[in-house]
Amino acid sequence: MSRFDATALRNRMVEEQLVPRGIFDERVLDAFRKVPRHTFIPDKSLENAYGDFPLPVGEGQTISQPYMVALMTQYLDLKADEKVLEVGTGSGYQAAILAELAKEVYSVERFTVLAERSRAVLKDLGYTNIKIRVGDGTEGWQGFAPYDGIIVTAGAPSVPEPLVEQLAEGGRLVIPVGGGFSQTLTLVRKKEGKIAQEEICGCVFVPLVGRYGWKK
Ligand code: SAH
Repeated sequence: MSRFDATALRNRMVEEQLVPRGIFDERVLDAFRKVPRHTFIPDKSLENAYGDFPLPVGEGQTISQPYMVALMTQYLDLKADEKVLEVGTGSGYQAAILAELAKEVYSVERFTVLAERSRAVLKDLGYTNIKIRVGDGTEGWQGFAPYDGIIVTAGAPSVPEPLVEQLAEGGRLVIPVGGGFSQTLTLVRKKEGKIAQEEICGCVFVPLVGRYGWKK
């Protein structure tokens, strides 16, 4: 299929899956029209890439359905000049979306193979504002803190304390919190040093495994 077909599939994904469910941030919608989701999935299949479902990305991990990626991104409320931390690079797709919307993206992945593949795909696409590190993202990434936005793309038993500490004043942290099989998407905000927590909706993510997450 040609590039034009992929563009058409992305436009349809935006109009059918995102807009009707309440994704209204035009910058977010534009990022979804632009980022070639199919290049981030192992078989590069156009048919699957733009469907309304999560997809396997290797190592037993999954890339969330487009709507969930969009919803989490919209809650970060990015305007262009932010520094963002992602925990769980996976395929690198969410990192690319963030890179379209913020100034700098830092992403941590526990599996070396996934981090390396994402790095290669993102480099091929020409992204220069994303740094990926292999490690335990429940500890955040102290070297570049504080972050205006933090997004955790795996399900946590509770909000990891280091992530709250690495959140900038006025910053937003979006994270699925709950049990191993289903969680509640949660928005944590830091205002005048105080933490406010808000529940968004139910969701299902692979487990966040680490020191401040699930212990294997
Ligand atoms: N955001 C990804 C989807 C990630 S799936 C995308 O756009 O494709 C969740 C990812 O979190 C998996 O790749 C998993 O390996 C990773 N993960 C789980 N626990 C982690 C931890 N403590 N630190 C870093 N990555 C972790």
